[in-house]
Amino acid sequence: ASDREPLVIIGTGLAGYNLAREFRKLDQATPLLLVTADDGTAYSKPLLSASLAHGKTPQQLASASAEQMARELNAEILVHTRVTDIDAEAKNLTLAVGNGSHSAGLRYGKLVLATGAGCRPLPAIEGDGHARLFRINSLGDYHRFRTAMVGRKRVLLLGAGLIGCEFANDLIQAGFEVEMVDPLDWPLATLLPEAAGRDIQRTLESHGVRFHGNARVTRLDRSGGGIRAQLDSGEHIDADIALAALGLQANTGLAAAAGLKINRGIVVNRQLQSSDANIFALGDCAEVDGHLLYFVAPLMACARALAKTLSGEPTPVHYGTLPVAVKTTLRPTTVCPPRPGAEGSWHIDSSASGVQAEFRGADGRLLGFALTGSAITARDTLTAECTPLMD
Ligand code: FAD
Repeated sequence: ASDREPLVIIGTGLAGYNLAREFRKLDQATPLLLVTADDGTAYSKPLLSASLAHGKTPQQLASASAEQMARELNAEILVHTRVTDIDAEAKNLTLAVGNGSHSAGLRYGKLVLATGAGCRPLPAIEGDGHARLFRINSLGDYHRFRTAMVGRKRVLLLGAGLIGCEFANDLIQAGFEVEMVDPLDWPLATLLPEAAGRDIQRTLESHGVRFHGNARVTRLDRSGGGIRAQLDSGEHIDADIALAALGLQANTGLAAAAGLKINRGIVVNRQLQSSDANIFALGDCAEVDGHLLYFVAPLMACARALAKTLSGEPTPVHYGTLPVAVKTTLRPTTVCPPRPGAEGSWHIDSSASGVQAEFRGADGRLLGFALTGSAITARDTLTAECTPLMD
């Protein structure tokens, strides 16, 4: 045991646990404490949208329990414990334990926020069918959804973004009937040019997914043993259960209440340091030098850099080119979106076997790309050519 104030990490998702692992490689002496509102099970969140077809239970997705992680990391882990307040001046946390029946205080030396992102609030949907509407952003959510699916067949998917398309791909292969509704014209429309989005749409449709573009669900009512959704187009869809994949937003409430600077995420510099010198952030909650990225590759880069900084060697993170593999296994897809606001245009090479779309600036520089089907073989070449996210 040591009298030194501990390094405290809030959150045991991929950001919290990977940082703890990287930190322990460099520093075995500083006391390490992780606090999590959930049960602290270690798992790979990306598997949540690619496991139904394989029949994976939540238990099978768990790679280690919190207890095993505490041993592996030589750390103390407080599970089912929510941090409700940060006193940055006193370097003290307030914890609500269990169901919130009692609270406790905890002092830190350095604090890391790895609080993730939550589902964006739903748009206004009237009706009494909301108990059948699910969202999946944690192992607990996956458990709830799988359990509610027992004996059910027809799934209404709200949202055809990256995660919505992955769920469509997974559900259809797991034998469900899938109707997908999205306010935009084609799947993945915020990330892909039309040719590539339509390519994925055609593939999903050829496997039985019904896609309703340019449409919103305005009502969701109970109907028989299932639900009936009303669309703004006048159409209605009958289903057994609904799943919404409508995007994420960074969990910043705790940091904001502590007076930390917030923009779209918790604002941190390239050393992952917030506006308070003793508080750091990484993962889905953190906006790193202007970049808010809900992906694993950037948080791994942050975990490696921050571990060094916290063990005494100040190290900035550097984001290179970070292509993302979309897990639409029926049509393998890779996207490397240009930075928001980047000026340029899409150049598209489309064939029956796949689409290669390159986003180039006026000077010809490659700023982003999207590849589907056989075109994904160009991934490494384009990644090498593409302008990195950080200079
Ligand atoms: P989280 O995993 O959300 O962890 C947040 C932690 O903070 C939790 O332990 C929570 O209990 C804790 N917490 C929050 N507030 C408090 C509090 N006040 N007190 C105590 N604890 C608190 N990315 C990819 O790169 N590739 C993919 O293919 C991919 N697929 C995905 C599929 C799905 C279905 C989803 C949902 C995401 C996917 N992502 C993918 C994104 C990726 O999974 C996330 O970027 C990553 O898991 C975020 O990890 P995190 O640790 O920042 O957040």
